[in-house]
Amino acid sequence: RGAIRFDNVHFAYDADRPILKGVSFEVPAGKTVAVVGPSGAGKSTLSRLLYRFYDAQSGSITIDGQDVRQVTQKSLRAVIGMVPQDTVLFNDTIAYNIRYGRIGASEAEVEQAADIAQIGGFIRALPKGFSAMVGERGLKLSGGEKQRVAIARTILKSPPILILDEATSALDTRTEQEIQAALDIVSKDRTTLVIAHRLSTVIHADEIIVLRDGVIAERGNHAALIAAGGLYASMW
Ligand code: ADP
Ligand code: ADP
Repeated sequence: RGAIRFDNVHFAYDADRPILKGVSFEVPAGKTVAVVGPSGAGKSTLSRLLYRFYDAQSGSITIDGQDVRQVTQKSLRAVIGMVPQDTVLFNDTIAYNIRYGRIGASEAEVEQAADIAQIGGFIRALPKGFSAMVGERGLKLSGGEKQRVAIARTILKSPPILILDEATSALDTRTEQEIQAALDIVSKDRTTLVIAHRLSTVIHADEIIVLRDGVIAERGNHAALIAAGGLYASMW
């Protein structure tokens, strides 16, 4: 379950400047579709429309045939796990931040999710910045570590649909590999929309959508798009 369909979606933040100009694609249930394209093409906007931070001006976005505008925010967010570009953490321990994914989770479940996301070592720590209020136990988290907290939270939540909006900030190779390994575990058998800012993550996607200036310029899997020799091939 959890098939996503964008059908002729038009969207503008400001009326005089269209961002998405008739975008249609599907993410079949259980599959992974990655969206790539130049900065400013409208990639992250797609994820914001699916999660309903904003609504499209025309066209439709459906999940299992139901328009996302017809479900409550609460039930929409129950079926979608969002790993945003920049995770904002609560003023509490890493464990608390992970448990937010499913409040009733046991200690063991929180620890297991943290281990998969490779942050098992410091779940009692507090994010730095907040630590001034509580003493010197604070831990300065990098962008990659914050993303891993969001991944652990999503593992615990275990939603049928996953939106992964990759961090635009550069991650070192090891962090990138660790995050990828955790994401491979989370996205397995889930409907996954990846807003890809790193090309290395898209190679195994079932389909790659190349967005340029708010329209789909190319689509296909990695091998087909490389063979086509177009925009995607030129990005490598
Ligand atoms: P991408 O993810 O492909 O880099 P985005 O979807 O983030 O692109 O943004 C597409 C365009 O919309 C960009 O030109 C960006 O500046 C603009 N934009 C993004 N968010 C907003 C906003 N909240 N208000 C106005 N313009 C925005
Ligand atoms: P939850 O689903 O846990 O209630 P939210 O839906 O408020 O959380 O936000 C999910 C994530 O998306 C948060 O980590 C937040 O930083 C990010 N986010 C919230 N609002 C926006 C927005 N307007 N644009 C982009 N990202 C956002």
